[in-house]
Amino acid sequence: MLIFKKPLKHFFNLFTQSNCPLCQRPTPQEFCPSCSKQLQKCQLNEPCRLWQQETPVFAWGAYGGILKRAIAVMKYNDCPDIARPLGHYLGEAWLQNLPSTEKKIAVVPIPLHPSKLKSRGFNQAALIAESFCEMTGLQLRVNGLQRVRVTEAQHSLTNTQRQKNLAAAFAIGEDLLRHRHDYVLLIDDIYTTGATAREAITTLSTASISAIGLAVCAAGMKLQS
Ligand SMILES: [Zn+2]
Repeated sequence: MLIFKKPLKHFFNLFTQSNCPLCQRPTPQEFCPSCSKQLQKCQLNEPCRLWQQETPVFAWGAYGGILKRAIAVMKYNDCPDIARPLGHYLGEAWLQNLPSTEKKIAVVPIPLHPSKLKSRGFNQAALIAESFCEMTGLQLRVNGLQRVRVTEAQHSLTNTQRQKNLAAAFAIGEDLLRHRHDYVLLIDDIYTTGATAREAITTLSTASISAIGLAVCAAGMKLQS
């Protein structure tokens, strides 16, 4: 029955109105037309702009406004369904821009520590990655990495503290132990300092796996200039 879960849900959505998670107006879509329009305005014209930096980043949108709110509502107001359209936006942009197509890559979400996963109930990066892979057809390895250490919230720390906080936070997960991949594309909801991505890339490199970069729904504006 599990296989029918998603199509059935979409089937019923044709007939039922739910509330837009961002403004509470009734809508048959994931977002109401007004919020959807505002979200599209957050889309970056050049999603590959940060692809040439040391940690290549592919970003769908600029972190701010309604996109920032959508991500916060998804994570903190228990709205995992928001990950699906965000992952599709990211996948569409990836297909249109194709930073790299020649390599056979596995898509790996930045994992949460099991204790955090338990309290939140879902890993937003994993849900975004799942929807991204639906759109792009790339191979999802949802447990490619695992978080082995509880880390403090990054935003409360200085850059040096962030790096220290994350040291040895990750280990190779069962999906990459079982299936050999030479290249990985990491997925996360937000990119800010890049400390998390760098730590994940270091962990992958210890297993001779190259991270081609990180794809995110939103990148911090300061990094756009
Ligand atoms: Zn709305």
